[in-house]
Amino acid sequence: MTQTEPSIFTRIIEREIPADMVYEDERVIAFHDIAPQAPVHVVVVPKTAQYRNVVELAAADPELLAHVVAVAQRVADELSDGEFRLIFNNGESAGQTIFHAHAHVLAGGLTEGTLGSK
Ligand code: 5GP
Repeated sequence: MTQTEPSIFTRIIEREIPADMVYEDERVIAFHDIAPQAPVHVVVVPKTAQYRNVVELAAADPELLAHVVAVAQRVADELSDGEFRLIFNNGESAGQTIFHAHAHVLAGGLTEGTLGSK
């Protein structure tokens, strides 16, 4: 699918809009979510904008998906106790609002209520 405008995440990667950065390497970037749903809520984003969601990412580049997971662990180690919940919203009705594949890392004392709400 052709994307006409860069996603918010691409604009953060390009430093066009600010974000509270946690981690960056040549393949991914991680920053605090602007609307945190847990004491620690960080988004890990592949720099490439070519995958709209985790399913496309997993099919095309499983190694990059594995790297996203490894970075999630690193973030949870650095900002919390190393334990975390990893969420990929996939599709609008599942809560996805930005169609540039990304993982939510939630940590720092979770309750079951943060798994999702109706
Ligand atoms: P999604 O709903 O697509 O799974 O996740 C998008 C996430 O990006 C949401 O949790 C939302 O709060 C976050 N977000 C949207 N715009 C911005 C922004 O400009 N900066 C940051 N740091 N997070 C954002």
